[in-house]
Amino acid sequence: MISDSKKFERLRDEMVKWQIENRGITNARVLNAMRTVPRHYFVSDALVDQAYGDFPLPIGEMQTISQPFIVAEMTQALELKKDDRVLEIGTGSGYQAAILSRLVFRVYTIERIFSLYKKSRQLFDSLKYHNIVSRYSDGTIRWPGEEPFNAIIVTAGAPRIPEALVSQLAVGGRMVIPVGSPISQELVRLYRDEDGIHQSVLGGCRFVKLIGEQGWKE
Ligand code: SAM
Repeated sequence: MISDSKKFERLRDEMVKWQIENRGITNARVLNAMRTVPRHYFVSDALVDQAYGDFPLPIGEMQTISQPFIVAEMTQALELKKDDRVLEIGTGSGYQAAILSRLVFRVYTIERIFSLYKKSRQLFDSLKYHNIVSRYSDGTIRWPGEEPFNAIIVTAGAPRIPEALVSQLAVGGRMVIPVGSPISQELVRLYRDEDGIHQSVLGGCRFVKLIGEQGWKE
């Protein structure tokens, strides 16, 4: 594994300043997590020099690690508290789960592609991110025994909001999910209170497909 160094620390500081703070992300804990997690560990050796660029990158299996800004935007929208339990659908490289793990009590992350599940698990262990629980499964169905979650983040584009996910959201819980067509989506934020579910749209986005029982068919 390529080690972290002053060079990468500087690249992270610049990423946070120019790509994230400059575009309106203000949550100090989110900014700090983005300054801390070594994003270059989550990409292949060939892409290390591009790890802090303002774009998504391929991670194999035709999947991507999201652009740093979208990671920050979705994380801020979850309004996380230190004792929250958060569910992520779409572990991918593991980068988003790693950011979440710096902010909350426990992260539960699900990936449907075995090689990505395995690689990200090894990385969490080597970085000693012990508050990440990972699972190889279809995240559009329930994770029995662990619900309800204080926050849910879906990092793949869904045709509609999966009922199984909404049903796992605690009262007071927040969820962000890209919803739309396979080529473009809207980032939707849900909030559950005693009266029910409230929805708002954060903006446009583009994610790979959420594939599963309550997502797209393969
Ligand atoms: N959060 C990731 C990261 O930080 O690298 C990026 C996720 S990538 C854009 C989307 C991921 O969602 C892919 O790894 C894909 O295999 C996964 N995925 C798609 N449908 C899924 C499902 N039903 N359950 C779990 N994972 C799914």
